[in-house]
Amino acid sequence: MGKLRFLISIIVGKIVYAIGKPFGKSTNLPGIIMLKICPDALARFKMPEKTVCVTGTNGKTGTSNLLTHIIRSSGKTVLNNSKGSNMAPGLVSALVTDSDFSGKIKSDVAVLEVDERSSQFIYTRFTPDIILCTNLFRDSIMRNGHSEFIFDKINDYLSKDTTLVLNGNDGISGLLGENVCERVFFSVERTERSTEKCEDTVCDLIACPKCHKKLDYEYYHYNHIGRPVCKECGFALPESSFTATDVDFENGTFRVIGKNGENMILPFQKGNFFNVFNITGAVAVCRLLGVSEEVIAGSTQDLSSKTGRFDDEKFGGAEIISMLSKNQNPISCSQSLKYLDGADGEKDVVLLITDSNDAVHGHEDISWLYDTDFSPLKSESVKNIYIGGSRCYDTAACLEIKGVDVNKLKLFTDYSHLCRDLCENVSENRKTVVYFELYATRIVKMIKENMTERAVKIGENRN
Ligand SMILES: [Zn+2]
Repeated sequence: MGKLRFLISIIVGKIVYAIGKPFGKSTNLPGIIMLKICPDALARFKMPEKTVCVTGTNGKTGTSNLLTHIIRSSGKTVLNNSKGSNMAPGLVSALVTDSDFSGKIKSDVAVLEVDERSSQFIYTRFTPDIILCTNLFRDSIMRNGHSEFIFDKINDYLSKDTTLVLNGNDGISGLLGENVCERVFFSVERTERSTEKCEDTVCDLIACPKCHKKLDYEYYHYNHIGRPVCKECGFALPESSFTATDVDFENGTFRVIGKNGENMILPFQKGNFFNVFNITGAVAVCRLLGVSEEVIAGSTQDLSSKTGRFDDEKFGGAEIISMLSKNQNPISCSQSLKYLDGADGEKDVVLLITDSNDAVHGHEDISWLYDTDFSPLKSESVKNIYIGGSRCYDTAACLEIKGVDVNKLKLFTDYSHLCRDLCENVSENRKTVVYFELYATRIVKMIKENMTERAVKIGENRN
């Protein structure tokens, strides 16, 4: 009976996928319907030779895309859920597009991004060969509570047959799978930008996870990411098998040294230090899968900002830099804002960071704004700060409390008014840096369309 149900769900899933695709309804809907027909569908697929899951608070999508890219460069076929959701229905939707009617996955490798809170509904259905956890931070407090809550959500569902690839700079996620499964660590050594004290607004790990006394750090990279050590009980994370060293912020390169003699110089996206962690984690997974150093080094050379999460474009003389800054995620937002410190010249900043679908969701918790480090906005080089959305006054109040010059603020509850004002006043002598949350992609598009029209008009007048 179960087999028949599964077969029916696959047939229905494939039909829903085909019909939904032209309408953009193919990434989640097939899975939702399939799970209604066959609740254990996820357990019934015959998974490929290797299955890698990528989880954690920040860097899941970037790392999954990177892994997919490198593994494909090695000549293997890869299935991923990059276009869909990272919860069970999204995974089922991705799997059904790549399976035959018996549920056998055709690709050689599956790289699946997994929502941290969905572990229970995923790792109990199939056993991944590898789970890479990028990091754990406070994030979306109303959904995720705090990082220890999320830690348990993952840790309780790990199998002894999975190899965990963990961030050796993260004293929270670095404890996953202790005494449960094989664990491989990657880390980033002290850089010229490492600090002795935590200089960020929040640090999610201040007490030793073992003896609960005050935890010391040899250095911090950002927030609680660094080298935690306990002087009381000697707690420290295990030695890393893959270590990033010689991070050159100026040129955007670093070296990865592996325990088995690996030694590669790789590029990273300048201004995006997260990228170094994502790449090093991906290298660790790829080496475990047997991908050669040559393929890794070759395929990471052409990496750039293809994800749409960081774009730098010119519209006539106006330069617009857009950067994803996840809503309700103080770490993502703080790190994106740090870009301003390193960028030369004067700039205008556009903040589209609160939920642009607030009218629909209508329940945004704004406490995360106060966990965010907005100090880069205090710089003399920041001239105007545009804030969009129905929460613009909340953001402005927070910025004022944090000491940002309120005379620089321009508030718009209506995004189209913001676009118009920005276009009219954009300066060709300054960069415009736009920070946007996931749902605000359409607003960034609107800004760029307006800028294109402006550039055309200016061009016509000049002719
Ligand atoms: Zn201790």
